[in-house]
Amino acid sequence: MSKVLELRSIAKSYNPGQPGEVRVLDACELSVDAGEIVALVAPSGAGKSTLLHIAGLLDTPDTGEVALNGQVMTGKGDAARTIARRREVGFVYQFHHLLPEFSATENIVLPQLANGIAATEAEARAAELLSTVGLTERAVHRPAQLSGGEQQRVAFCRALANSPHLLLADEPTGNLDPGTSETVFAALMQLVRETGMAALIATHNLELAKRMDRVVRLDGGRIAAA
Ligand code: ADP
Repeated sequence: MSKVLELRSIAKSYNPGQPGEVRVLDACELSVDAGEIVALVAPSGAGKSTLLHIAGLLDTPDTGEVALNGQVMTGKGDAARTIARRREVGFVYQFHHLLPEFSATENIVLPQLANGIAATEAEARAAELLSTVGLTERAVHRPAQLSGGEQQRVAFCRALANSPHLLLADEPTGNLDPGTSETVFAALMQLVRETGMAALIATHNLELAKRMDRVVRLDGGRIAAA
C-alpha cells in the first residue's frame, strides 16, 4: 500500500516560550494509506484541528516532517505548499463554508478553475459528483436553498472536485441531526471508497468511527491505537 500521508515525529506548541504556551502535539506519528479511512477520535481541545491543519499544509509543525505521497513538504516554500494542497488535499469542516452567492455546481467548479481545469470539464465533474451524492436536482440551487445535509454533501463534492489523494475532515457530521448525519456519512464513505483516496476523519461519534477502517486516538499530543 502506498502511504498518502505521513506525519513523522510532529511537535506543535502555540505561543512557544511564552507564559501562555500550549503544547498541543508531541512526537506525533501517523500514516494513512491509499484507500484507507482512518477515524481520529479525541476530546475537544486535544489537538485534532491542529493535527488536520498540519497534515493539510495549512499550518507548519515546530519540529518533525509531513510527507504527502512520499514527498516531504516540511520546509518547502509557501507556493509549493499551496500547489500541493490544492492538488492533493480536500478539506471538509463541521460547517459547510460554501460560498452563499454561488450555486451548488458553481461551488464545485470554482476550486477546479483555480487548479487550471477548463470550465466545461469542471462542470462535467461537478455534475458527476452531485449525481453520486444524489443531488442532481439541486445543481442550480444556492446554499441557502438547501437543507443542512444537502449543504454538507455539496461541501464533500467541492472537497473532492480536484480528485485529491487525501481527504481531511473535521467533525463532518457534527452539525447534523442523527438521521441526516447517517445519510451524509454514508455519502462521504461512498465517495471516498469510489475514488480510493486516503481519508482522515476527526469525529466525536464512536459509532461512526467504528465503521471506518481504523480508529486512532489523540492522547497527550500523541497518536495511539484506539
Ligand atoms: P480540537 O480540534 O481537538 O478541539 P485544537 O487543535 O483546536 O483542538 O486545539 C488544541 C489546543 O490548542 C486547545 O487547548 C486550544 O485552546 C489551543 N489552541 C488552538 N489554537 C490556538 C492558538 N492559535 N493559540 C493558542 N492556543 C491555541
